[in-house]
Amino acid sequence: MQQRLYSVPEAVNEVPATYAPGTPEREELKKEIERARSVEADIPMIIGGKEIRTGNTVRIHPPHDLSHTLGHYHRGEAEHVTMAIDAALQARQSWASLPWRERAAVFLKAATLISGPYRSKINAATMLGQSKTVYQSEIDAVCELADFLRYNVQYMTEIFMHQPKSSPDAWNRMEQRPLEGFVFALSPFNFTAIAGNLPTAPAMMGNVVVWKPANTQIYAARIIMEVLLEAGLPEGVINLVFVGGPVAGDVVFSHREFAGIHYTGSTEVLGTIWKTIGDNLQVYRSYPRIVGETGGKDFIIAHASARPAQVATALSRGAFEYQGQKCSAASRAYISRSIWEEVKKHMLGQIGTFRTGGPEDFGNFITAVIDKPAFDKLTRVIDKVKKNDEVEIIAGGNYDSSKGYFIEPTVILTSDPCYFTMIHELFGPILSIYIFEDNQFEETLDLIDRTSVYGLTGAVFAKERNAINLASKKLINAAGNFYINDKPTGSVVGHQPFGGSRASGTNDKAGSILNLYRWVSPRTIKESFLPPEDYRYPHLDDDHT
Ligand code: NAD
Repeated sequence: MQQRLYSVPEAVNEVPATYAPGTPEREELKKEIERARSVEADIPMIIGGKEIRTGNTVRIHPPHDLSHTLGHYHRGEAEHVTMAIDAALQARQSWASLPWRERAAVFLKAATLISGPYRSKINAATMLGQSKTVYQSEIDAVCELADFLRYNVQYMTEIFMHQPKSSPDAWNRMEQRPLEGFVFALSPFNFTAIAGNLPTAPAMMGNVVVWKPANTQIYAARIIMEVLLEAGLPEGVINLVFVGGPVAGDVVFSHREFAGIHYTGSTEVLGTIWKTIGDNLQVYRSYPRIVGETGGKDFIIAHASARPAQVATALSRGAFEYQGQKCSAASRAYISRSIWEEVKKHMLGQIGTFRTGGPEDFGNFITAVIDKPAFDKLTRVIDKVKKNDEVEIIAGGNYDSSKGYFIEPTVILTSDPCYFTMIHELFGPILSIYIFEDNQFEETLDLIDRTSVYGLTGAVFAKERNAINLASKKLINAAGNFYINDKPTGSVVGHQPFGGSRASGTNDKAGSILNLYRWVSPRTIKESFLPPEDYRYPHLDDDHT
């Protein structure tokens, strides 16, 4: 057998296609959207490589077009979670012992399928199922997902190459073992790329996985699974189940072989999960790895020296793209009094031109929020704000669920920096703004730092260098992704590794080498070439007389 030291293709970021009028990608995607809308998908769970249909089906509709049926998924029960765990454990030995290059090839091929023949399909599914505009879908479901897969393969090899020192009489080596047991991937609705990364990052390192996506993301999740199987992923390595979160949790967190959770979602759910794992610690073979990226209350602060048009654009895009349903979305802003009127003029001007409707029309910038619970929660917030005379709604404030869950991009002006919309994650198209006096910049930085429990993303806009330096220092723990003169959203794999601390998560930086280290358990091996044959050390000898 030939033995080689292989290198992998250097990871290069996938470039988003423009979908401008007249481009071939636009035509192809429009056709795929039409095709997807003309059929009703029947979506089974995938356990041990087999399609599992329970007959207990749940209808899927676009959040922006409630009367249309995209398809149905088959809902599972606790027994399907057990089946998935069994299938994973059965696949474990052969997957873990497969040479890493074979595993790498599966994920590199999956990236090429996503950015090539599956591009329109995964975009159409994300646009229809999660109500993303074409650009929001392209940067997520295609570019970020392909980037996760390609960069992680490269990081995997970097981890393997990192070896301890040796000496002429001993060779020291480090092996990276997959975790003993299975990993549970629990993904949110808002990013198809995250849904793909949560199961594949541990799998790449040799782990087997039970994956439960959010119900509202199943329509695109099934395409990820299809791509992975097409790319040659062996049966049972990743098992896709459609069950309620607590149903999955009950089975997974009481299983002896539970080895880790790769989670992205709300802060509250991670808290519940962490507590359960702690309570069950004696059940497990090892201490389970907990990787959880959670909520945010992301900020923009604009110093008096900032350019108003740049601040306004960061607010319009940072707060309202994907209807504010990004963990990184700007949802509280602090603007210096002397530039506020200009910022306001530009921002309201931009918001005034936003077009709203289904993402099938590529001219729409705003579409619907994800589901009824989100719509109800957000509209309750808007209604409460409307009743408060001390708070002003300067844009939006209306909503309508007759066709889909549409909420106008809403901007709240408050003179109370601790108003509840400045503190809590709302996860929708609602931006709260507080105006501070120009000479209160430093105090406002302290205010930002202590206002919310989160520490995910944040941005400072300023031309004046002392102001930038002060903000960077004072806000050191307020954001795991800190932006200078840029909006706080839109991190790119390999460029801005993503994650926050405090109540925003374990900050293991998705799409970085740090994350992959969590899915291996290193074994250090020392091999001596000349082992001693006498226990005695020189100092034990008698003094010479
Ligand atoms: P969510 O917490 O409602 O759901 C996340 C996942 O957990 C889903 O699969 C859900 O079914 C499951 N779940 C819910 N309750 C559960 C329980 N009791 N036990 C086990 N599983 C349970 O989150 P979501 O609405 O899908 O996503 C939005 C949230 O995710 C926001 O808070 C957002 O900030 C966060 N998010 C964070 C990041 C990040 O990188 N920090 C990225 C994306 C989203």
